[in-house]
Amino acid sequence: MSSKCDSCKPAKCCLYTSMEIDTPETRKDHEYNLWLIAHKNISFYVDRKIWHINFASRCKFLKKDNRCKIYDKRFSVCRNHDTDSCEDTGDYDFSEYFNNYDELLNYIKKKHPRWRFAEPRGKKK
Ligand code: SF4
Ligand code: SF4
Repeated sequence: MSSKCDSCKPAKCCLYTSMEIDTPETRKDHEYNLWLIAHKNISFYVDRKIWHINFASRCKFLKKDNRCKIYDKRFSVCRNHDTDSCEDTGDYDFSEYFNNYDELLNYIKKKHPRWRFAEPRGKKK
């Protein structure tokens, strides 16, 4: 880890995984994403028009002191991570970020007011 990482507690880049997904277009696509985000620790973000799914999940190799247990043999994705544009020091400016079911549902309802999906408890069906 670089010295920049010393002030990053907890080590933010070791606490999640994410991957690109197809841009949702149809009702079926959006419903599928709602199903995904109904699960714990799932979120979505849109970065430069590309949708990503994010899984909040701590890497098993992150030690209690926020150091990497396998630093010399860490994965290439970790090795190539640039501290100048990382989660702690970078200037992320996602056009959309959906942290939970309600946030994604509200976004979909604004774009497609006629579509109906399962509402959170206590809200109108
Ligand atoms: S998020 Fe950035 S500063 Fe923090 S541990 Fe990862 S690379 Fe280092
Ligand atoms: S292998 Fe090490 S650097 Fe990579 S995510 Fe896990 S703890 Fe972080």
